[in-house]
This record gives sequence, structure tokens and C-alpha cells, in this order.
Amino acid sequence: MSAAISLRMHGVDVDLIDIDPQWRALGAGMTITGPTLRAFDSLGVLDAVREKGYISDRTKFFSADGTLQGEMLPPPIDKDLPVAGGILRPDLHGILSKKVMELGTNVRLGITITDLSQDASGVTATFSTGETGRYDAVIGADGFNSVVRGFVRPDAPRPRFTGQGCWRLLAPRPEAVTSPEIYFGSDYKVGVNPCSPDQMYLFANVKMPGNPHIPDDELLPRMRELLAPLAGTIRTVHDGLSEDSAINYRPLEALLVPLPWHAGRIGLIGDAVHATTPHLASGAGLSVEDGLLIGEMLADAEDVESALAAFGERRWQRSKVVVENSVKIGDLEQAGGNDARVAQIMGESIVILARPI
Ligand SMILES: Cc1cc2nc3c(=O)[nH]c(=O)nc-3n(C[C@H](O)[C@H](O)[C@H](O)COP(=O)(O)OP(=O)(O)OC[C@H]3O[C@@H](n4cnc5c(N)ncnc54)[C@H](O)[C@@H]3O)c2cc1C
Repeated sequence: MSAAISLRMHGVDVDLIDIDPQWRALGAGMTITGPTLRAFDSLGVLDAVREKGYISDRTKFFSADGTLQGEMLPPPIDKDLPVAGGILRPDLHGILSKKVMELGTNVRLGITITDLSQDASGVTATFSTGETGRYDAVIGADGFNSVVRGFVRPDAPRPRFTGQGCWRLLAPRPEAVTSPEIYFGSDYKVGVNPCSPDQMYLFANVKMPGNPHIPDDELLPRMRELLAPLAGTIRTVHDGLSEDSAINYRPLEALLVPLPWHAGRIGLIGDAVHATTPHLASGAGLSVEDGLLIGEMLADAEDVESALAAFGERRWQRSKVVVENSVKIGDLEQAGGNDARVAQIMGESIVILARPI
């Protein structure tokens, strides 16, 4: 959607297809960092994100018994931008899809591509409906299990399980919770982040040896067990758990496809080439930046293939930092935690990501 918005802002015709007939956002809430907010600003959706989401200026750290250990108050990356925040995924999806439609994108839902073939003058896409379309360029923004990736880089590595799983839950926001809070358990951390005026999401990245499948009927008892040792806000969430709680578990996987991220006139962006664990809360941010930039670069391009090659070169280092440093933090957590080293990696990553894209 970011790529479509960016291309339409530059006057380029866009057909956007999505396999999901309902065009839904999966998952609960997400953290939006300063660089993500900057990209939303460039796409013209920052005010809507502020209004629907929750803006905060600090992160608070607590020990398991609920004692405040410290606060991190990073400066904004630009004086006109908020420091960070959170938003419900369906709300963000609603904001972006509204913008996509307002800008006159031709959106078709419930379809996918079954073939892509190209020659010197363009790409012919065959859709699951049997129809075909002819395009100057095709962008695969189809996520982690990308089908377009198969046409561009059939040799790409597969996503790799990193040893941790992420437990998530949406809960009412107590009035006292006005910023992200992190609680340190024995060998895991549990965090909450406000993502709307009245809701917050809870997340815990936990070591899951052997990558077990978690059946639905185990989600509630396991979440209870995970939260039970922690006090403060986490105790409040624990006490509110019920059969109706929307609990989500997902094994954490990572993928960094080496360049090139294109073949001729077909390019890849987002999780299709750099899927990360959530330790730097930057996967979606990186994908939004990709969309913004590839739109600008293609709109200005004299030659599509060169523009796609230049896009990959420009995004490689930043994507590598996010994926590799997120995985490193997860590895340190699994090895028993080295909080000074984690803070150092986070600090270095934040400095790099604050740079212009
Ligand atoms: C547990 C967890 C927590 C996270 N938390 C954060 C966070 O707090 N902040 C953050 O910035 N990032 C976070 N991320 C990362 C973020 O969710 C992803 O990086 C981001 O969603 C990737 O966006 P994308 O558009 O590339 O792919 P997706 O969001 O996966 O979107 C792909 C789209 O393509 C469509 N599609 C798929 N296949 C096809 C097909 N064959 N044909 C047509 N359409 C298709 C799908 O329906 C979907 O709409 C988290 C990730 C995980 C796993």
C-alpha cells in the first residue's frame, strides 16, 4: 500500500492486487518508531496515525516485582515528529487503504498472480482469474511467503526459525499506562505498548526450543503461566485474562535475501526480502520506507531495471542492520540476557535508522 501511495503521489497508474478478498490486517497492535512515523509523514498519513494510534515519548523499565528501574527518553528524530507510538494493525490498514483509494489506485481483491513473464518492453502478469495485464514494472510486496519472490529469486534462502516465539495479546489500557513498559522476568521480558486511546498490546518474546506447535486450547493457560510471576501492569493484564482474550502466538523467523532483489522489471520489497523478528520494532517501518522509496525511484526512472537495481543497493545496508541486529538481540535474550550489550545494539541501530532513507 505504501508503494501504491507513493507511485500515485507521483502520478503513476497502479493496479494493486491482494489475495485476501476481505483485505484484512492480521494481528493486534504494533510499535511505530520515529523513522516509521517519518515515512508515514511523507505518505501523508501521519495525522491520521496520531489520531487513531497512541503517541508516547518514553519507555519505562520495571523489575518483576513492579519496581520502576529506569526510563529511556530518546530525542525525536526530527523536531516536528513524535518520538514513537503504537497503533492497532486494523486501524493502520484502514488509514493506508483509505489513502490508496483516495489517490485513485485500481484495487482488486481476492486474486493473485499465476505467472509473470517479461521482455524488453514490459511484464505480462497472468492473474488467478485467467486475465492478463501488461505493466512497465511489477512490485512484489506479498510478505514473508512471497509468491513473486519465486519469479525473481527462486534460489532465495527460506525464512529461518530463530529459537523464540512471540506471545501477543490485546488488553484494555489502564489510565496509568501512558507509554511502553518492559518488565524483566526470569529469562524473558514482557512488554506493553498503548496502541489506541483505550487499548494496549502485550508482547513477550520467549525461548521455544524445538519450535513446538501450540494448539489453541493451550494459549490461555500458557499466557497465564507466562504473566503470573510479574507484578504491576502485567499483573493487571493477567487478572483480566479470560476465555474471550484474543491471544496470538507466532514462532519468530527471519529472512534476509541477498541482492539482487529484482529480475528485469520485477522487484521485491518488504518482508518478501527482509523479514525480521520484532526486537527493534522496525519490520513494518522498513517495509513502509521501501514502498515510499521504490515509488519515488520508479516514478523518476528512465530505465526500470536500473531503478530497481539502485533501489536494492540503497536499501541493503539498512535492512541488514534491522534483520541482523534483531536476531542478535534475540540470541542474547536466549543466552540468558546481557542487558548492556542489548542496549548497545539497540542504541547503534536507532542511530542508523534515524538517518535519512
Ligand atoms: C510477532 C511480530 C511482531 C511484529 N511487531 C512489529 C512492530 O511492532 N513494528 C514493526 O514495525 N514491525 C513489526 N513486525 C514486522 C511487520 O509485521 C512486518 O515486517 C510487516 O507486516 C511486513 O509488511 P509487508 O507489507 O512486507 O508484508 P505483509 O504485512 O505480510 O503483507 C503482505 C500482503 O500481501 C498479500 N499477499 C500475500 N500473498 C499474496 C499473493 N500470493 N498474492 C497477492 N497478495 C498476496 C497479503 O494478503 C498481505 O496483504 C512484527 C512481526 C512479527 C512477526
